[in-house]
Amino acid sequence: MNTPTAELIPLSLFLFLALAVAGEDVKLSSVKMPPLDNANAFYPSNKPPLAPSPFVKLPIGAITPRGWLRQMLELEADGMTGHLTEIAGWCKKEKNAWLNPKGEGHSPWEEMPYWLKGFGDLGYVLRDERVMAEAKIWLEGILSSQQPDGWFGPLANKTRLGGRPDLWPNMLAVNALQSFHEFTGDKRVIDLLTKYFKWQLSVPDKDFIVPDWQRVRAGDNLESVYWLYNRTGDAWLLDLAKKVHEHTDPWSERVANHHGVNFAQGFRQPAIYWMQAKDDKFRLAAYRNYDTFMGEFGQQPGGTYGADENARKGYTDPRQATETCSLVEYMHSFEMLLRITGDPLWADRCEEIAFNSFPPSQPPDQKGLKYLTAANQPRLDTRNHAPGIQNGGNMFGYDPHSYRCCQHNVAMGWPYYAEELWLATPDGGLAASLYAACEVEAKVGDGTTVKIREDTAYPFSDTITLGLITRKPVRFPLYLRIPRWCSDAKVLLNGKPLDVRAEPLSFLVIEREWGAGETTVALQLPMKLSVRVWEKNKNAVSIDRGPLTYSLKIEEEWKRYGGSDKWPAFAVFPKTPWNYGLELDPAKPDASIRVCEEQISRIGVKPALPFTPEATPISLTAKGRKIPQWGFDRHGLCATLQESPAYTTEPVETVALIPMGCARLRIAAFPTVSDKPDANKWAEQPQPAYVASASHCHPGDTVDALCDGQLPKSSIDRSIQRFTWWDHKGTTEWVAYKFPKPRSISWSDVYWFDDTGGGGCRVPASWKLLYKEGGDWKEVKLAEGAAYGAEMDKFNKVAFDPVTTAELRLEAKLQPNFSGGILEWRISPEEKK
Ligand SMILES: [Zn+2]
Repeated sequence: MNTPTAELIPLSLFLFLALAVAGEDVKLSSVKMPPLDNANAFYPSNKPPLAPSPFVKLPIGAITPRGWLRQMLELEADGMTGHLTEIAGWCKKEKNAWLNPKGEGHSPWEEMPYWLKGFGDLGYVLRDERVMAEAKIWLEGILSSQQPDGWFGPLANKTRLGGRPDLWPNMLAVNALQSFHEFTGDKRVIDLLTKYFKWQLSVPDKDFIVPDWQRVRAGDNLESVYWLYNRTGDAWLLDLAKKVHEHTDPWSERVANHHGVNFAQGFRQPAIYWMQAKDDKFRLAAYRNYDTFMGEFGQQPGGTYGADENARKGYTDPRQATETCSLVEYMHSFEMLLRITGDPLWADRCEEIAFNSFPPSQPPDQKGLKYLTAANQPRLDTRNHAPGIQNGGNMFGYDPHSYRCCQHNVAMGWPYYAEELWLATPDGGLAASLYAACEVEAKVGDGTTVKIREDTAYPFSDTITLGLITRKPVRFPLYLRIPRWCSDAKVLLNGKPLDVRAEPLSFLVIEREWGAGETTVALQLPMKLSVRVWEKNKNAVSIDRGPLTYSLKIEEEWKRYGGSDKWPAFAVFPKTPWNYGLELDPAKPDASIRVCEEQISRIGVKPALPFTPEATPISLTAKGRKIPQWGFDRHGLCATLQESPAYTTEPVETVALIPMGCARLRIAAFPTVSDKPDANKWAEQPQPAYVASASHCHPGDTVDALCDGQLPKSSIDRSIQRFTWWDHKGTTEWVAYKFPKPRSISWSDVYWFDDTGGGGCRVPASWKLLYKEGGDWKEVKLAEGAAYGAEMDKFNKVAFDPVTTAELRLEAKLQPNFSGGILEWRISPEEKK
C-alpha cells in the first residue's frame, strides 16, 4: 500500500449526509473524521489551545479483548514477556537501579522500562492479577525514586551524557506511569510527572536533550507533556513542550535519521507538535516522512521497511528486514497518528503490520523472539548474514535470551493494539478503529454507559457483528472504519440493510437513538483478491486479500540451537522448495488464484492460534514455477530479486499461499514467471571466491563493496556501494580477503574512495600489501618499478613476486585528520593449472 498520501483531508468533510431509514430517525453518513466543534465530555481530550482531538483514547480496561487477540495476549503473559524477570538480567530485582529510592544500582538504562511499559499494559488489558502485581512492584520503585529537584529513576542517567542528563530511559518509564494512571487513576503519577517536567523546564538549554538517542526520540517526551497538560491544564507545560520540540532532531524538515527504530518513532514527531503549533506543515511532515522513507525502503509487503539496523541506500530488496522494535514502534506511531489526525489511513497501516509482519517476530508460543523480520525470509538460521543485512551475528533465530532492546520492547505490541480497538469521538460517540473481537464499555451521548460486544474473526473473516446494549435509550453516533481496500461495505441494523454508501478510507456513521436492550449492527467488508506490483523491486508482485498479504507456504523444520530447557532457542529451516515465481496476470488475479472457500465457511469467531501455517483459517492456491537460478547467496540470504517475469521452463505447479502473518518462513514478494523467450533470464548466483573483512567499517557502508564487481566511474562515485573506515581518521587500518584454500596472487589493484569537496575521506597517505604465511603477516615484494599508488579516479595497480596464501591484507595509513575508503579492490585471477 505504497500510494502517496500528500493530499490530506479537509477537516470534517462530510460526504454523504442524513439518509433517513424509513420510520426511524437514523442519520447515516460517510465521513473522513468526526466533527471537531465540541470536545468529548467524558474522556481527556486535548485542552485548548491544543488542536481538538478527533479521537480520544478510552481508559485502559474499557476494552476487553477476545478471540485471537486475547489468545495472543495470554500467550504473551505465559511466554517470554510475562516471565522476563526470570530470563533477562536487566529485569533482575536485586540491587536494580529502577527499584532503589535513590536510583542507585545496576541496569539503569532503557531495558527494564521498555519491558515495563508493555508488561504493565498487558496486565491491565487482561486484568491478569499476577502480571499487575509484578508490574506494581516496579512502578512503586519508580514512584518512590523522585528526588527533591524533581528527577526520578536511576541516578546514573542524570549524568550519563558527559555529565548531562539522558532523558530517554525516563521517557519509557513515563509511558508506564501514564498507563498505570489511566488504569488506576492513581494521583501520585500526576504529582510525580508535574515535578519531573518542572525539573525539565529548569534544565539549561545547553544541557537539555543533548544529541544521543534522546534527541532523535524526544517526540515521546513531547507526547507525555501533552498527556499531562490535558489532565492538569498547567500552562507552563506548553512552554516545556516548545522547549522539547526545539531540542528534537528536525523531523519537521526531513527524515532526520535512518536508523530503523529511530525512524519508526521519530517520523511522527512533527504531527505531535502540530497539536500545539497548528501550522499544517508540521502535520504534513509526518505524512511526508512516511512517504519519503517508504518510497525508498518500504518497497515490500507487510507495511514496513528494510532497515536491518539502519536503512541503507541500495539495500531495498524484500529480503531487507525490520527490527522487532521498529515493528512495535511503527504500530504505536500509527495508533497515535490516528487519534491526532483523525485519518483512518493510519489505522490501515497499523493493521497491515499487526496482521502481516508482527506475529512472525515471535514463535507461535511467544517464548522467544527474533531481531529481524523480512517479507522474503525463507530460512531462519543463526549464521552471520552481514553485510547482506547490516548487523553481524545471529539475527534470525528465535531466542528468548538475546536481542536486548527488542526482547524488552516487544512487550507493548499487542497490549497497545488492544487498547486502541475503540476510541471516543468529540460528539459523544464511539468509533471502531481497529477491528478485533472484544467487549467495550464506555460513556456516550448524555453520559449513559453502553456495552458493545464485537464478534469477529477479522482479519480472517470479513464480517463484524456488534451487539450494543444500553439500559436506557441513548442517542449517539457509532463510527465504523472503512478500510482503504474495501469499496462495497455493507451494514445491517437489526438484520435490515442500511442504505448508505461508505467510501473506502472513511468512517460510516450511524447516529440514532439506541433503544434499551440489545441492538445488532452487522458490518460486512468484502475482501477481494488484488495484486501489488513492486516496480522499484524488479516488478515483483504481492497477493493481497483485504488486510492480509499472502506468502508461499513453506514447510518448517524447527531445530533447537541453544537457550535453556525451559526457554529454548530455535532456528527454522525450509523443508520444501521456496524459489517459486507466480504465473499470473496482475490485472486479473482471480484467473489463477483460488480462495479456499470451504475453509472460509468454517471460520468461527475464535480461530485457534491463527498465526501458524497449520492453523491458518484461510489459504489460497496459485500457479507457480520454480526459478532454478534463485537460491541462497554468498550472505546466506535468499538472493536479491532479478527482473520479472523470470524465464523458466520448470513445470507449472499449484502452490499454497498462506497469510504472511502465519508464515515464519516466507516469500511474499514474488517474481512473476514465464516460459516465453522474451522473459528475463536470471543470472546464476556468483559463487563466493573469498570473504572480505576490515579493521573497521562505517555502519552505513559495507565490506562487500570491496569485491562486489561494481566498478566505479570516479573516486567520488556515489551510485555504487562503498567501503569506508569512517570515522577513523589518521589511523592505520586494513581490509583483508580470506580464501577457502591457499591460492597464488601476483598483482592487485585498488580504486580509492575520495570525497574531497564534500566529505572527510581522502586517498591514504601510504599503503602496502601483506600476506599471511604461517601465523605471520609479511609484505609482498613489489616487482621492479612497481609502487603503491594513491591516485584518484583510477585503479592503482601493483605487481609483485607471486605469493601463495590463504589471506591477503591491504594496510593503509590514513592522512592526518582524514578517513579513507575503497570502492573496489581486485586481485589477480587464480591461474589455471
Ligand atoms: Zn530492538
